[in-house]
Order: sequence, then structure tokens, then C-alpha cells
Amino acid sequence: MSSFSLECFNMDDVIQLKTQVEKRLKLYGLRPTKARLRIGMMLLDHPKHLSAEQVFERLLEKGHSISKATVYNTLNAFAEKGLVNQVAVDPSRMYYDSTTNAHHHFFNIDTGQLFDIPSDDLSVENIPRLPENTKIQDLEIVIKIKNK
Ligand SMILES: [Zn+2]
Repeated sequence: MSSFSLECFNMDDVIQLKTQVEKRLKLYGLRPTKARLRIGMMLLDHPKHLSAEQVFERLLEKGHSISKATVYNTLNAFAEKGLVNQVAVDPSRMYYDSTTNAHHHFFNIDTGQLFDIPSDDLSVENIPRLPENTKIQDLEIVIKIKNK
């Protein structure tokens, strides 16, 4: 009986997450296709950073058959519409960040993991004079770290 109710609870969670993701996709002008829902549910349930390869591998682990091209296209569509942020820390791969407000990152070059640094925890002084006719759009800092 207890495992039965636990299962129901989990199922409810899944359905609730799916409904939330569907709403967010529509809010950002994205038609909720099967692939978008699946990837959205993976990326948007908690704040997280994943590369396209990581999303692809996790979907395969869960037994979903999806092509790499679909994963790339879906993530690009998410980024284009502003549903996720792209973080270019590693020239060989792009990370997709479910937190879209401005914040900073630690990037561990040994593990390839990205961690958030809350904006309040880091202050930037002495910003150099900007080139003429420009203004700051965004200020995002990546601190590269490695294991000792
Ligand atoms: Zn982040």
C-alpha cells in the first residue's frame, strides 16, 4: 500500500512537471513537441547546467531514443527564445543554463562542471572605459578552477 501511494505521488510529480514545462514552452513561443517536453523536463526541473552531450547521454540512459541533431536543435531553439541561457566557457562545447537571470560561474576544467556564483557574492571594480558608442549589456564572469 505504501509503495503504491509513493508511486502515485511520483507520477503526480511527473505530470505536474510536464504541465509546468508545457506552460513555459508556450509562454516562450515554443510548440510543445515530444522532444521539447522531454528535454525541458530534464533541464527545467531544478537550476542546472548541461551540455548538449550530457542531455543526449541522460536521455539515452533513461531509454529514450532521440537523435543528437534533435537535442542540438531543441537546445538552440530554447536558447533563441530565452528559455535557457547559453554559457560559452569551453570552446569545444556550449552549456545550457536553466537560470536565465545574470549570474557568475565557476567552471571546473577537470570535471567540466559549472557552478553558479550568486551575483551578490562577487563585485567587479575598475571596469575599463568602454569603446565609444557602446554600453554594458551584461557582465558575466567565469572563474576557471581545477582540482588540487
Ligand atoms: Zn548558471
